[in-house]
Amino acid sequence: MSRNVLLLPGDGIGPEIVAEAEKVLHKVNDQFGLGLSFESALVGGAAIDETDTPLPEETLEKARKADAILLGAVGGPKWDSLPMAKRPEKGLLGLRSNLELFANLRPAILYPQLASASSLKPEVVSGLDILIVRELTGGIYFGQPRGVRELESGERQGYNTYQYTESEIRRIGRVAFEAAQQRGKKLCSVDKANVLEVTVLWREIMEDLKREYPDVELSHMYVDNAAMQLVRAPKQFDVIVTGNMFGDILSDEAAMLTGSIGMLPSASLNSDKQGMYEPCHGSAPDIAGQGIANPLATILSAAMMLRYSLNEEKAALAIEAAVSKVLDQGLRTADIMSEGGQKVSTRDMGEAVLNAL
Ligand code: NAD
Repeated sequence: MSRNVLLLPGDGIGPEIVAEAEKVLHKVNDQFGLGLSFESALVGGAAIDETDTPLPEETLEKARKADAILLGAVGGPKWDSLPMAKRPEKGLLGLRSNLELFANLRPAILYPQLASASSLKPEVVSGLDILIVRELTGGIYFGQPRGVRELESGERQGYNTYQYTESEIRRIGRVAFEAAQQRGKKLCSVDKANVLEVTVLWREIMEDLKREYPDVELSHMYVDNAAMQLVRAPKQFDVIVTGNMFGDILSDEAAMLTGSIGMLPSASLNSDKQGMYEPCHGSAPDIAGQGIANPLATILSAAMMLRYSLNEEKAALAIEAAVSKVLDQGLRTADIMSEGGQKVSTRDMGEAVLNAL
């Protein structure tokens, strides 16, 4: 049975890091006889340059047919002055909404080898293992109406709409409860129910769902407190579930607890388990083309892809073990460099993972 993986390198450091993950995928494909076939397509700024749109129809078609998608990152200053609808980020949002990738899973794990790379004290973060489940296709990023309008006074006003339907809350809640069941059985739902009606409903539905998952301990936290608790005592959390915008912000904060955003993978799944896998970071235009980006978040995203969409747990574990081994060997890209480490390039890091496999 041949399964198809679509590679979307994108912009900035995207092509550099996806190239390393692709080599790793080819290697496990041979080693484990996975029967994967690979295709590539344009998205984001690279697609705008070639086709004048961030998500060409051809890319969307390939994405629909693929069993799983591995994306680098999109965006960069070159395209920042384009109107909102033509920006690279629209390519990503279009993929998420067209494929209904409503569940974004972002683990924040602190590798013991990197405890000193965190800006927090080692005792606060060592052993950290959090999973943030972020709703990805609803909320204020997609709500209508939206725009900038002119008021009668002549002043301009920007506006967006924050909305969630009951069924949208329920389906992301189920993903989070099920993830918690497989982990530490603790779920914290993050909202702003003291101010926003949308999240009053959110809290109500989470409470309602709790009855289906009696083995999971559910708690609620306001988003401002959650932001604070993540830096004060992050190990109190097991699984966090939250809406699109709060999840966007909190998952980047959690990423930094681990030392580098360059280490963190993510998965975005739909109800058929088709998924798009990508590092949590962006296209890092400040370091693009220099060969110094950390490819490990993308390589670990490939591992998540094998686990969640392709059902190849052994191959996923092999990649994760190989990453741990190169960290044990002291190899470090610039973003995770610390005393005693050996500084390596993007390509050297990719090669080291291949060798460890
Ligand atoms: P960013 O994540 O690209 O970069 C933030 C900082 O982290 C930079 O200093 C960068 O050099 C560093 N960094 C990121 N990834 C790294 C890696 N793998 N190795 C080493 N260092 C790394 O965020 P930003 O600067 O806010 O955004 C840059 C562009 O990326 C923008 O156009 C933004 O819209 C886009 N973006 C895209 C995505 C995505 O494609 N999913 C996500 C976030 C931002």
